[in-house]
Amino acid sequence: MIPRLRPHIGIEELLALCLPASGDAVDRFEHEFAALMEQEYSVFFPYGRTGLVCLLQALGISGKEIVCPAWTCVVVPHAVVQSGNEPVFVDCPEGDYNMDLDAAEKEINGNTGAIIPTSIFGQPVDLDALDRLRSRHPQIPVIQDCAHSFAASWKERPVQKEGIAAIFGLGVGKLMTAILGGMITTDDSSLARELYRLRTSNVTHPSLWAALKKRVYFAAANAALWPPAYGLVNMLERAGGLNRYVKYYDEGTISLPADWLLGMSSAQAAVGRIQAGCYKAIVDQRRRAASYYDEQLQGISGITLPAPYEGATWSHYTILVKDRERLLKNALKNGIQLGSLIEYNVPDMAAYKVRSGYRDCTVARGFAQKAVNLPVWGESPLSRVTGFLRDTFDC
Ligand SMILES: *Cc1c(COP(=O)(O)O)cnc(C)c1O
Repeated sequence: MIPRLRPHIGIEELLALCLPASGDAVDRFEHEFAALMEQEYSVFFPYGRTGLVCLLQALGISGKEIVCPAWTCVVVPHAVVQSGNEPVFVDCPEGDYNMDLDAAEKEINGNTGAIIPTSIFGQPVDLDALDRLRSRHPQIPVIQDCAHSFAASWKERPVQKEGIAAIFGLGVGKLMTAILGGMITTDDSSLARELYRLRTSNVTHPSLWAALKKRVYFAAANAALWPPAYGLVNMLERAGGLNRYVKYYDEGTISLPADWLLGMSSAQAAVGRIQAGCYKAIVDQRRRAASYYDEQLQGISGITLPAPYEGATWSHYTILVKDRERLLKNALKNGIQLGSLIEYNVPDMAAYKVRSGYRDCTVARGFAQKAVNLPVWGESPLSRVTGFLRDTFDC
């Protein structure tokens, strides 16, 4: 069975899990990651969201409004709330999965603390529009959410450098992984110092047991997403047997995971270093997959393709269809698991709907109902997926 995602993990990463990692692995990973992102500093955190909480704290932002996309990973607004701020949600423009920056500008007021442009699915944020916004509001810090984009570029300008700092997620579903974890990158030395200080005072050292559990989790996740095993795993997943591992949010609750301040192990950093070393190959492969889909699915009525951005890095290749549930079910019957990320519009979620300042984000709501992500993790599933879609949409 073809899984919707599969981390790009080789034997080297698995070996790194079995061997003791060197004591300075975290420092080295931070250096190498900063170099990869062409930034001066990079600070490793237990999760991307932990990094975001510390970043807002380091910037002294509290009791403010943070302008976020309505169509983003819900862990971002969760972190904003955890930091003592309030997310303000902005809709997408038609035909573009990223936040509408003109609409975002209209939300800026005297109590705005920051804006979080997000290059969702690796589609770069429109930096021309962002430049205009920044020139009119130079006092508002820009935090780039690069958890999906990892160095996507807009007209050859890497998005992560266009703000005070950028956040990255390194869980197993991301473009590159350190088992779990996140990074904050910045060129600002005093901000980096403050981030290190906050990390040291808030994040605890993992016990040997906690570090071992992460190694086992990683090996298990990798084995579970191995195509020959995935049929069985998918049955378990659909029966709810894996919710502990795959369910990352609850409609009605704003919270961070229990281990959000539990420190990173050196094995995680060792895996991250190997991944950073092959990051360019990972993205090249995804770009090839995206062009293949662009070519093969073009002109099929019933399928809306993603906007064709030159510098996209394709953490996901997301199409829009009308009857998603039927398509997903049908795909499973054909041995293909398609994804439905992001299947919610954050302001409509029970936990956010009841907060003050509800925004009706109709475009994001439509995307949330129609989005289907196709596997982009390798060459082998591509022709089967396009064959299935062409049969289904009858052409
Ligand atoms: C994954 C993700 C994050 C942060 O990830 P963590 O799971 O907290 O490491 C942030 N933004 C987006 C859009 C994401 O998908």
